[in-house]
Amino acid sequence: MIPSTEPRGAGAVLTVDPAAVAANWATLCARHPGGAVAGVVKADAYGLGAALIAPRLHAAGCRHFFVAQLEEALAIRDLLPGAMLAVLNGLLPGTAADYAARDIAPVLGSLGEVDAWARQARRAGRRLPALLHVDTGMARLGLDARELDALAADHARLDGIALRYAMTHLVSAEQADDPMNAAQLARFADACARLPPAPRSLANSSGIFLGAAYGSDLARPGAALYGINPVPGQPNPMRDTVRLEARVLQVREIGPGETVGYNATWRAARPSRIGTVGLGYADGLLRSLSNRGAAFFDGRPVPLVGRVSMDMTTFDVTEYPAIGPGSWLEIIGPHCPPDRLAEAAGTNGYEILTSLGRRYARVAAGA
Ligand SMILES: *Cc1c(COP(=O)(O)O)cnc(C)c1O
Repeated sequence: MIPSTEPRGAGAVLTVDPAAVAANWATLCARHPGGAVAGVVKADAYGLGAALIAPRLHAAGCRHFFVAQLEEALAIRDLLPGAMLAVLNGLLPGTAADYAARDIAPVLGSLGEVDAWARQARRAGRRLPALLHVDTGMARLGLDARELDALAADHARLDGIALRYAMTHLVSAEQADDPMNAAQLARFADACARLPPAPRSLANSSGIFLGAAYGSDLARPGAALYGINPVPGQPNPMRDTVRLEARVLQVREIGPGETVGYNATWRAARPSRIGTVGLGYADGLLRSLSNRGAAFFDGRPVPLVGRVSMDMTTFDVTEYPAIGPGSWLEIIGPHCPPDRLAEAAGTNGYEILTSLGRRYARVAAGA
């Protein structure tokens, strides 16, 4: 398949479809009727490009956005007028003034952060928005049980803070039968009952599909927006949002017994044609795909053979006489969505998308 726009000289083209992301957001809204649905656009919108995706979601009506880091928020703040923009990783010491100046809401994940934000509000002489993260099982960020006890006994520590949401994060939402889900739901309800009344934010992508009990005032999907299947093992309700195509640089013929690539991990059993493509692990084609993955040509699989190199990858094109220098192979696309590539690589679709390289020609579908 030839990319709709073919930048001259580009060895690989990543086509991102912001309209498909917006359609996925609308699907998630329909699945979460009891509350709003945010857009999680951390890690450059999971590799798709936050500056492209966030405004498109905003235009679709999305009014809540999450990133991981302050720098990510600063980069897109002006693109999202009137919207809540929150930073999941919370307040690093010394950053409160930067948050306040740009109307960015920290997700407060410890009492120290709560106190720092309340101090900032006193300095500013106005209430400042924040979310409060309660840990119910992840043990990364968020108030632990002891901190929750302390805050429950002293709500005044939140004075000056406009508490937009109390939130927690599910550990195993994509495994619907994991008892951890219900346990976290119960812990979160208990925590919220002991805090000042505030709207609640619970589900990530997969959490939205756990049923009405996991609904909240604000769901926080990321992966599903970008087409990753939130219900593994069932048909994917989301639309694909990226296509990655790469060009064959050379095709060479090798004889039986000859080997391909670093460490000679693949040996031809017959006279073979090897197509070398100009992308490798530096572009996010994970090295663990060595001798495992496949590209697609005319909808048929072309086996990846040998080790993935930094800038090149080799494919056995023996069965494809039509493949020659300049041919396009589908690396990610309708025949090989990120989840499928992830399975071959021994990872998840999240890592495939967030690994997508920076040196592709990037094209917005329909642009
Ligand atoms: C990344 C993240 C999300 C989004 O999770 P997905 O599984 O990608 O939907 C939601 N909440 C928090 C706290 C996160 O870190």
